Amino acid sequence: MGDYKAPRDLLKDKVILVTGAGDGIGRVAAKTFAAHGATVILLGRTTPKLEVVYDEIEKAGGPQPAIFPMDLSDARSETFEQFAEAVEQEFGRLDGLLHNAGLLGQRTPIANYHFGTWEQVMQVNVNAAFGLTKTLLPLLEKSQAGSIVFTGSGVGLKGRAYWGAYSVSKFATEGLMQVLADELDGVSEVRANSINPGATRTNMRAAAYPAENPNTVTTPKDIMPTYLYLMGDDSRGVSGRQFNAQG
Ligand code: NDP
Repeated sequence: MGDYKAPRDLLKDKVILVTGAGDGIGRVAAKTFAAHGATVILLGRTTPKLEVVYDEIEKAGGPQPAIFPMDLSDARSETFEQFAEAVEQEFGRLDGLLHNAGLLGQRTPIANYHFGTWEQVMQVNVNAAFGLTKTLLPLLEKSQAGSIVFTGSGVGLKGRAYWGAYSVSKFATEGLMQVLADELDGVSEVRANSINPGATRTNMRAAAYPAENPNTVTTPKDIMPTYLYLMGDDSRGVSGRQFNAQG
């Protein structure tokens, strides 16, 4: 779907939540969704970064976004329930949910992996996506065509040495997406898919590949067609699939 051409008003009147919206791919996704007409809910752990994205969207003339600061590493069931209540009160429904926030963790052999880091990566990359999905599903059901998009990775399809919890968390993400899509199949208009962004120029990529020249890496903007396709109505009925944003 890398060559998908989104109509300007593709996401008009849609309410879309983006996690990890303050930086990297999430920041560009939030701005891109707003540029196509969506009211975007910006969720992240660093409020000043979210405020910058908020201002950029307003300046570009997009619909007024909303900011919800949340550190997913210590979010528990009550946090997600309160958040879902707030979204319901403010918007009454949710049309799109992009699970984008992610932690890289350590790049080290399993034998040396720090237990606390392992738990934190699984919490942010998997448990938080489960908690948000579970509590927001009733609001996605209120949409005409709710779309849930998970973020996978190449190392979530084939394990790779030293990628530890990150790799395992991305396998789990694919599993969560597939189980959910199968449950929704035939009984709901809500669809669930995952995107493997591929190598993309962000802080996380730079941390994983410090010797790489960032100018040689695809930008977040370049991979947006797949994100737009999955959030917009052209992907209605498509569910349970894994998309490579650069393939
Ligand atoms: P970045 O590190 O650039 O951005 C990650 C975002 O997630 C940041 O906004 C960060 O917030 C947020 N985040 C991290 N931890 C938490 C937390 N505890 N609570 C709330 N928000 C949090 O990463 P990318 O943009 O590169 O990655 C986005 C997604 O794409 C991730 O799921 C990643 O695994 C995946 N991916 C990326 C690839 C790449 O090459 N870039 C390749 C394959 C997959 P803050 O800014 O405050 O730190």
